[in-house]
Amino acid sequence: MLSARLTELNENEILKYLGYRGQEIDPSLRTQIERCIAEVERAAVPRIVWKQLPVVENHVEGLTLAGSDMADLLANCSEVVLLGATIGAMVERLLMKSEVKSMADALIMDACASTAVENVCNNFEQDLRAEVEKQGLYLSDRFSPGYGDLPFEENRDFCALLDVERRIGVTQSPTHLMIPRKSVMAIMGIADHPLKMRGKGCENCPMFLHCQFRRRGVTCTGEPL
Ligand code: SF4
Repeated sequence: MLSARLTELNENEILKYLGYRGQEIDPSLRTQIERCIAEVERAAVPRIVWKQLPVVENHVEGLTLAGSDMADLLANCSEVVLLGATIGAMVERLLMKSEVKSMADALIMDACASTAVENVCNNFEQDLRAEVEKQGLYLSDRFSPGYGDLPFEENRDFCALLDVERRIGVTQSPTHLMIPRKSVMAIMGIADHPLKMRGKGCENCPMFLHCQFRRRGVTCTGEPL
């Protein structure tokens, strides 16, 4: 039985969300980050829901899965696993409170919360991969609506199939944003042969939608967009 696991947050990941790239960190900023990590960890209630579904004739019932990334996944996989994950409404309240109190805290808190929900997804993926490999099968890497060419709007079908409102307390805004914000829908494929993993480019990066580097017109490796 796979369960939601939130493990220690990686400070480097948080700094990356904040747009840092190897610069020296001021001790007062480090203290502020440590305080924000502690507050997010205290408030977080990680929850997941997941479902394994068959791929029939390159199609999963109930999902559109548009785009070339998904066409490739469906052509190579016999099943998919859908994941819904959240760190809960208490973190949402903490983010809203910090937005009123201090913009600097709000930014750091947001980065900590993004890292936390990503941590829950990574831990699930790791646990699932171990289970799949025990059966002599292969797990693809993880895609979420909004990465690559999988449309963001597909969050709607993921949420419906996973019944996330009832199971983990996640709803959607009319523009398909998750409520609480730090919630993620994702899909992975299962195959009987090794699968090609995607490259490390921006289109495959979990930070793609909120990347501070891209907002400044560069990538995290310093290249212009
Ligand atoms: S890979 Fe792209 S999206 Fe991801 S952190 Fe680097 S610049 Fe941002």
